[in-house]
Amino acid sequence: MSSTSTTGTDWTRRSAAELADALAAGEVTSVELTQAHLDRIAAVDGDADAGVHAFLHVDAEGALEQARASDARRAAGEPASYLDGVPIAVKDVMTTTGLPTTCGSKMLEGWVPPYDSTVVAKLKAAGLPILGKTNMDEFAMGSSTEHSAYGPTRNPWDLTRIPGGSGGGSAAAVAAFEAPLAIGTDTGGSIRQPGAVTGTVGVKPTYGGVSRHGLVALANSLDQAGPVTRTVLDSALLHELIGGHDPLDSTSISEAVPALVDAARQGASGDVSGLRVGVITELRGGEGWQPGVLARFDEALEALVAAGAEVVEVSCPNIVHAIAAYYLILPAECSSNLAKFDAMRYGLRVLPEGVESPSAEAVMRASRDAGFGDEVKRRIILGTYALSSGYYDAYYGQAQKLRTLISRDFTAAFEQVDVLVSPTAPTTAFALGEKLDDPLAMYAGDLATIPANLAGIPGISVPAGLADEDGLPVGFQVLAPALADDRVYRVGAAVEALLEKKWGHALWAQAPELTTRQGADA
Ligand code: GLN
Repeated sequence: MSSTSTTGTDWTRRSAAELADALAAGEVTSVELTQAHLDRIAAVDGDADAGVHAFLHVDAEGALEQARASDARRAAGEPASYLDGVPIAVKDVMTTTGLPTTCGSKMLEGWVPPYDSTVVAKLKAAGLPILGKTNMDEFAMGSSTEHSAYGPTRNPWDLTRIPGGSGGGSAAAVAAFEAPLAIGTDTGGSIRQPGAVTGTVGVKPTYGGVSRHGLVALANSLDQAGPVTRTVLDSALLHELIGGHDPLDSTSISEAVPALVDAARQGASGDVSGLRVGVITELRGGEGWQPGVLARFDEALEALVAAGAEVVEVSCPNIVHAIAAYYLILPAECSSNLAKFDAMRYGLRVLPEGVESPSAEAVMRASRDAGFGDEVKRRIILGTYALSSGYYDAYYGQAQKLRTLISRDFTAAFEQVDVLVSPTAPTTAFALGEKLDDPLAMYAGDLATIPANLAGIPGISVPAGLADEDGLPVGFQVLAPALADDRVYRVGAAVEALLEKKWGHALWAQAPELTTRQGADA
């Protein structure tokens, strides 16, 4: 297999920072790195029926062309950025000129956008070859990637398990060494929860810190794009590259991106003396929390204490209502966003069967029925109901009030501590199919990630080890006040460094070998 070069180096097992250094030192070319990852994709990604299935579209030709251009820049001594030439995968919710963008939906099957999202434009300007587009729950609704209209992604740690969602494709691609870096989006946890269950790092930036221009909206007031990587430093490098003000996004903030790479490097020293860490009382266990998740969380806390942090418990009492508030606000916003897919202006057009000269309404009904999956329909109905006059105050209005109370809880908590921590998700990866017919059980898994989206604050999930019960990855979440993204990197990098020291290796070094398209070739 050519992912192992002639020198015996497997470039797919390196961090993005290591790859950037190797490129700068002339040890490897971007074409070689890109080809190594394309070979890995060909070997393990499979398809909807078997394999990891992290990708919906692989753009081998385009990626290699970008890699050749990158090598030419390096040869001329003019790299466009530190990461110039390091390949990346992009969630299929980001528009890409010349590459399909389906959002995991039949509604957008075959759509090739005429413009790049700002995030993608920044990646291209910085010289990162785009390997392809990753699988996701339809329009980013879900926690398992099983709601993709193109079949589920499988967790590289156990192909019978979910990779998290909605961005399971990006997390699985990085966990399976198909890409060193990926872009995800996090509306209620879709970067952090897949990160937790695949043993990768995922960051949800401060709301407005990364442009939403060209991010097909799920819920505008909650959506935020961010990095998906195997190391905290790699996330910081990527975040600095994609972050910053964008005049094309009216909710983009004007504050400069904090020095995230510096913060990650500082944290990697493992010195957290004087750091005040608050454990969120409401996310500390109880019904539905897996013992192995709590055990790994406690160990990470102990490591922080041993390294000089002061750990206290802090209550955020309104967090217990976060799921209820989110599952009113999100459906309200998405029912409005998805109204544009009406077969007239956007999206799939299906003519109702056996009807001569059907009315516009009949075409809309047939198209939306065929184009949207069950979860999307469920949320459209819920959102339309919550926004209807007569119910607006009782549901949407109440949810907005709760959102304010949750934000206030965080503000009060951050007066006492520098960061708040919790397990990222209450359980490890569940089995494919296990929660598919039980939406409420699926929603319940979002309890630890949703509050940050409601409050607009940044959060990271870093690997905390493997649960004893099932040997599957557990995530440790760090939250900080809005605009203090550097803090989540500093503390995330410290947790990573302290745990890796204890284990003697990075968690991903334990990832199972996926040497063939397991099952796909059988
Ligand atoms: N699991 C959450 C949901 O289903 C989060 C989705 C997301 O962040 N895109 O809405």
